[in-house]
Amino acid sequence: MSELFIYNTLTGKKEKFEPIHSGKVGMYVCGPTLYSEPHMGNLRTFINFDMIYRYLLHLRYQVKYVRNITDCGHITNSAGLELDSIGLAAKAEQMESLEIVYKYNSKFQDIQKAYNLLRPSIEPTATAHIQEQIEIIEKIMENGFAYVSNGTVYFDVNKYVKSNPYGVVSGRKIDELLNESRELQGQEEKRNPADFALWKKAQSEDMQIWRSPWGDGNPGWHIECTAMSTKYLGEQFDIHGGGMDLKFPHHENEVAQSCGAGMKNPANYWMHANMLNVNGQKMSKAFGNYFLPFDILEGTTSIFSKPFSAQVVRFFMMMGHYRSDLDFSNDALIAAERGYDRLTEAFLKIDKLTISETTNASKEIEEIKDNCAAAMNDDFNTSKLIAELFELATLINKIDSKTIHATQEDLANIHKLIQDYFVKVLGIQFENGTETNSQAIEHLMQLIIDIRKDSREKKDFATSDKIRDVLTQVGIELRDGKDGTDWKI
Ligand code: AMP
Ligand code: ZN
Repeated sequence: MSELFIYNTLTGKKEKFEPIHSGKVGMYVCGPTLYSEPHMGNLRTFINFDMIYRYLLHLRYQVKYVRNITDCGHITNSAGLELDSIGLAAKAEQMESLEIVYKYNSKFQDIQKAYNLLRPSIEPTATAHIQEQIEIIEKIMENGFAYVSNGTVYFDVNKYVKSNPYGVVSGRKIDELLNESRELQGQEEKRNPADFALWKKAQSEDMQIWRSPWGDGNPGWHIECTAMSTKYLGEQFDIHGGGMDLKFPHHENEVAQSCGAGMKNPANYWMHANMLNVNGQKMSKAFGNYFLPFDILEGTTSIFSKPFSAQVVRFFMMMGHYRSDLDFSNDALIAAERGYDRLTEAFLKIDKLTISETTNASKEIEEIKDNCAAAMNDDFNTSKLIAELFELATLINKIDSKTIHATQEDLANIHKLIQDYFVKVLGIQFENGTETNSQAIEHLMQLIIDIRKDSREKKDFATSDKIRDVLTQVGIELRDGKDGTDWKI
């Protein structure tokens, strides 16, 4: 098996993947801030890292995948003010901060189930790790890279850069940053506009406040990821991921915090997923050009002519490489749906193909298999992988039309390729379940119809009426005719 190459933001190159501990991978991905329902843009990043997680599992790595939930500390900039995003949402919806987080986390979990994402190994929350955040801030203070100003603790970027490189993730130039000034609240407390808050003094309107050596307050946004990644993956781990938009300041500051606390750059490979756009513009809550995952499934959005299934949306996402940007539009989803239908129609034929004694298919199957592995080993190139799966579909259609002959072993190899790459790595299921599911429903309905018939014969009308009524409630109609009973949804 060829080796896996990963594009590392730190070097700007594809590098051979060598985990710190052989056979094991530690991966940290920045999770959602749950002050509102995650949109399709957020979901694209999580689906991409889900695919990466799935491929690492396919390569038989033992993966510890940590993806946090931001439930405090995140800031929304509005009219020159830095406001706590979750606190703002809590006030608007007249709820507690954690009520907001619970509400949207339960939605987020439902979205992940609907779009077939595997659950990470751990989903830690920032509010459950305040002590760990305080301890890292104390270390940064001890090392002289932070200062207290009016009850708020700032990271001293100017001092840090005298002995450490800054800009390793984002490529931002420190001189430009030090001269950059933004008109935001609290700037006068900082020694330099590039300094960022590690701990913020409590404001009268704050809904979540904790005690700290510097007085009551709440943690800055960046420190939570440093605290949780260190706690669960150690001071150095393999992969740190997130969307491109997190390179600066979030990831840059994570590196600075770790180094400032006497540790090292936490991750060997920094991976960044590109954005989901709408008409070339990043999908974002702030721009108002966002779509919600369940609205796409229900077909209740303005730009889509019809509902699209989670399988088609996921297939559409996987058609783009994770480092390419991707435009979300009705036409693109219609095209993805056509492609998805073409592939699954071919894949579902596999059980009905004629088995031959001789083969002229095995060489091509072997080639497709190698190409699938090569595509994924080339920095998780799902785009190339899907092109190979189309080759496989063409081959299946040729076997079906008997232009090519395949043995039992060939068909078993094709079946394995579909299971390994389409189902497991890309995480795509067959629509409406598979044929097996619809057969199972057929059997269940026949059982229900038989029980109803028995109860009517025994004059147990309470049971037979109940069966009809409950089925009617769930939208299933029973139709009695002279040849028996059939059913319709
Ligand atoms: P947030 O909840 O804003 O912290 O974002 C959660 C994740 O979604 C981060 O990794 C972001 O980089 C990512 N993200 C936000 N907007 C988009 C977008 N339009 N396309 C892809 N990823 C996004
Ligand atoms: Zn983070």
